[in-house]
Amino acid sequence: MIEINTIALLKNKVNEAIETGQTIGFVPTMGFLHEGHMTLVENARTENDLVIMSIFVNPAQFGPNEDFDRYPRDIERDSRLANEAGVDVLFYPQVDEIYPQDGGITIQAGQQANVLCGASRPGHFDGVLKIVTKLFHIVQPTRAYFGQKDAQQLAIIETLVRDYNFPLEIRRVETVREEDGLAKSSRNVFLSPTEREEAPALQKAIKLGIEDYSKHGDVNQAVAITKKLIEEKTSGKIDYVELLGYPNLTKPTDNQEDVILAVAVFFEKARLIDNIILTNKGE
Ligand code: AMP
Repeated sequence: MIEINTIALLKNKVNEAIETGQTIGFVPTMGFLHEGHMTLVENARTENDLVIMSIFVNPAQFGPNEDFDRYPRDIERDSRLANEAGVDVLFYPQVDEIYPQDGGITIQAGQQANVLCGASRPGHFDGVLKIVTKLFHIVQPTRAYFGQKDAQQLAIIETLVRDYNFPLEIRRVETVREEDGLAKSSRNVFLSPTEREEAPALQKAIKLGIEDYSKHGDVNQAVAITKKLIEEKTSGKIDYVELLGYPNLTKPTDNQEDVILAVAVFFEKARLIDNIILTNKGE
């Protein structure tokens, strides 16, 4: 694995790959890697000749009172894990390399960002689209890999790629969980021991809610069931519990539509998100 810090050097590597007809699989991350990230790499490894991972904690997607400064970082450990997982190129730029100037042009997410995390984190998805657009142009991937753990992000990026004809394929990867069901997340390290014991209740609550929805088709009831269990089983404060059509993220119109039941819960030092997507095939 080679480690690259500049756009110029990365472009050399990318051009070389394109000239020799290699496919490029791209895994963008913010680092502090865990098995969720590793699964994205595994998928990229199987389907492409060259695997590029980026690690960049993107200031543009954090609000003023969010955890940009204390987001967990450990590049030495990440570099080792990326290497073991089969990454060929680790792109690890500093903020000045990515944002050397600002010409004032912005990219704004559409109505998909009005709900869920977009409603609680104004501007978050605009910041995501900004970095993703830049990285896609720098890396020129054949395929880019995103986790369903961040289902709203995935849906919005798919829309960007579709509506603006980005020449790449977006690949969805299922959420990787701890044995007790907690979705793997870089932010799980911020949970206290008690909160860590409570946190698997998020997935259990979503499961109960989605099972109820698949039986009765009642959005409000499913949401109420999920909320109740989270409130009973955790000390966290619910940010949102919502059931929406996926990937449009609007009110479900009929029970043929794929839906997502998504939650965000504030614990003392971490805000956790999780979701289950119910496809009309019943998965
Ligand atoms: P992050 O480093 O948290 O920005 O995540 C980078 C990528 O990894 C995103 O596409 C996430 O959706 C994905 N990811 C994060 N956690 C998981 C997980 N538990 N399972 C699958 N993918 C994940």
